Amino acid sequence: MLDLDTPLGKVVGTRTAKAMAEELSLHTVRDLVRHYPSRYARRGEMTRFTDLEVGDRVTVLGQVRTVDTRPMRNRRGSLTEVTVGDGDGSMRLVFFNHRHARLEVGAWGLFAGTVSSWHGQLQFSHPDCQVLDDSTDADEWATAMLPIYPASKSVSSWVVQKSLKLVLGDPGAADALLDADPVPPGVRARHGLMPLARAIWLKHHPETPEDVARADHRLKWDEALVLQVTLAARRRAAALEPGIARPRRAGGLADAVDAALPFALTDGQREVGEALAVEIGREQPMHRLLQGEVGSGKTVVALRAMAQVVDAGGQAALLAPTEVLAAQHARGIGALLGPLGRAGEIDGDPDGTRVTLLTGSLRAAARRAALAEVADGSAGIVVGTHALLSEGVDFADLGLVVVDEQHRFGVEQRDRLRAKGTRPPHVLVMTATPIPRTVAMTVYGDLETLTLRQLPAGRGGVSSSVVPVAEKPAWLDRAWARVREEVAAGRQAYVVCPRIGDDEKDAGPETDDGAPPETAQTSDRRPPLAVLDVAEALASGPLAGLRVEVLHGRLTPEEKDARMRAFAAREVDVLVATTVIEVGVDVPNATVMVVMDADRFGVSQLHQLRGRVARGKHPGLCLLVSEAPTSSSTGTRLAQVAATTDGFELARLDLETRREGDVLGAAQSGRRSGVKLLSLLHDEELIAAARTEAAALLETDLGLAAHPELAAAVAALNAGDRADWLERA
Ligand code: ADP
Ligand code: MG
Repeated sequence: MLDLDTPLGKVVGTRTAKAMAEELSLHTVRDLVRHYPSRYARRGEMTRFTDLEVGDRVTVLGQVRTVDTRPMRNRRGSLTEVTVGDGDGSMRLVFFNHRHARLEVGAWGLFAGTVSSWHGQLQFSHPDCQVLDDSTDADEWATAMLPIYPASKSVSSWVVQKSLKLVLGDPGAADALLDADPVPPGVRARHGLMPLARAIWLKHHPETPEDVARADHRLKWDEALVLQVTLAARRRAAALEPGIARPRRAGGLADAVDAALPFALTDGQREVGEALAVEIGREQPMHRLLQGEVGSGKTVVALRAMAQVVDAGGQAALLAPTEVLAAQHARGIGALLGPLGRAGEIDGDPDGTRVTLLTGSLRAAARRAALAEVADGSAGIVVGTHALLSEGVDFADLGLVVVDEQHRFGVEQRDRLRAKGTRPPHVLVMTATPIPRTVAMTVYGDLETLTLRQLPAGRGGVSSSVVPVAEKPAWLDRAWARVREEVAAGRQAYVVCPRIGDDEKDAGPETDDGAPPETAQTSDRRPPLAVLDVAEALASGPLAGLRVEVLHGRLTPEEKDARMRAFAAREVDVLVATTVIEVGVDVPNATVMVVMDADRFGVSQLHQLRGRVARGKHPGLCLLVSEAPTSSSTGTRLAQVAATTDGFELARLDLETRREGDVLGAAQSGRRSGVKLLSLLHDEELIAAARTEAAALLETDLGLAAHPELAAAVAALNAGDRADWLERA
């Protein structure tokens, strides 16, 4: 008998099971039935694919129009060209030394591959094909809604489909397999949801788009409820575990910071600061998200909160996403505190504290010294990267953790932090990327938001334009002329590239924190432009005579730091860099940024990058250089980024573009959140309703004793040590 935990090796062949596990993370029957189609192929849809782009990996449905096999001219072997079409759309398939036996004119089939371009026409080289005919796929074909599954190199959509047939042969099989429904009957009744078995069956075998919509709605509930129960239980657990109150004290470091500030706080900074001071003064651990536009002055808000904690005898840690930024923060805070930040040194103020920089790449002796200061408590303010969380760093008394510019900082990381102190510390997460409400309710669970709306007075602002080099090559010359003009006026410039260069292996956009790049890379596209190449070309070409320097993640921390300093000291005119400068870097004299291959960056990355040139009193200019046609979806996206600096609008755009991959059926494996269908963009109401139901369930039925199916689903999501807190609840 099959059940959901049956390993796939018992269902499909060992080779297929192995490939499914390795390439799609599908291990059990449960994983397989939850491997949903990314879309459904229907006749007539190929015309919709006219805006497919080179590099997209897709599966299309079409009819064979021509087949032509001939010997190759310059090599041995033959070349087969097949044209498939559907309505107005058509596409060329090429096969070398191979002819798919059943590809005959008139046959319908599914074709999967990576899109490339040939004489202006879209083509697939060596696509995977599945010819449809009466004998093999009669029933699917008749319904005319063919599920297209996220596929991988050796597991095609139709292999997934055939495997599913073995476990979900008919609706009865689905009922038997899936009779344990995590959504309690009461919740289903209140929200008009079909049973799980029916929804899963329909999702894989819909007859109409309405079937899909109804199944999706029900399955989204599944995801939302399990997630919200998880979060609600976590909130309870956190509430049961008090932290330490760190009330504000007069006459200490906090007052000294205020006195040392070279500017007056904005009203917003003052109000937010007040709210934080109150919450940090309570025993209940604070969990706050501080949103504030790029340049709104979040750092000083954080510093004031950290000083309050130091005054109360605790330590504060400031986590930056990159080493460059951590070094800059340590330097900035050190400079502001002066002798107050050097307690214990000859010129230090004994009433002050120490600001200690602790990054993963400190040399052994420096690292030992830093670790000792952190462990004995003499370091009141510890600045580092996120590595601080994962490495064996002991704090004497960690009272506050500030996480800078990290919108990916979720619940799990916070849990890890809690374990760092004897009692859970207060937590402040800061981001310039606004978090839509749904994300705040899910990824962040229980994080409440504070917003800094106002920018300090006298900011120049930033304007952006797209430079479509394929269509308007002269605009790029104009861009470099603008850079020269700014430099001539005493300003500085950034040029950002997706890649470092000089190394075959580094093919993707660089991120310092090891996060996956937001843009898919495929071998069919030319490699992204590289810092080293671009810097050289500029220095000997359009920017000859200017002082050009490079900055990227392969430099040692000392080199990076030295180059940032040189740039800040205006000893460098143009800094050609990777996204190591993405967040937080603060050089107000830099006014132009040219982003090369801008289409290779995500929306929020571009917004962050652009923030680097909006920091002074001079107006900033950001030029997004791209080869993407202005009419393509990528070109449109860039134009939208250029058109607005409204962080909330950009956050929406960011969410939308991430869904784009799903629409085209790009490979997408289930992520650990267990969220596959739920859209943070479109399902706000559903998520809010699930949150209410989750709270009610836990209110009356702690431990979910009456709902074992739901409890099991929650436990599965939080498998392993992550379930601890659930039991405590
Ligand atoms: P972000 O919110 O993007 O992290 P920062 O904290 O880096 O912004 O601040 C941007 C710049 O504005 C810094 O140079 C900082 O010193 C300056 N700044 C912060 N607050 C004020 C203020 N109230 N008045 C003037 N300048 C300020
Ligand atoms: Mg900042």
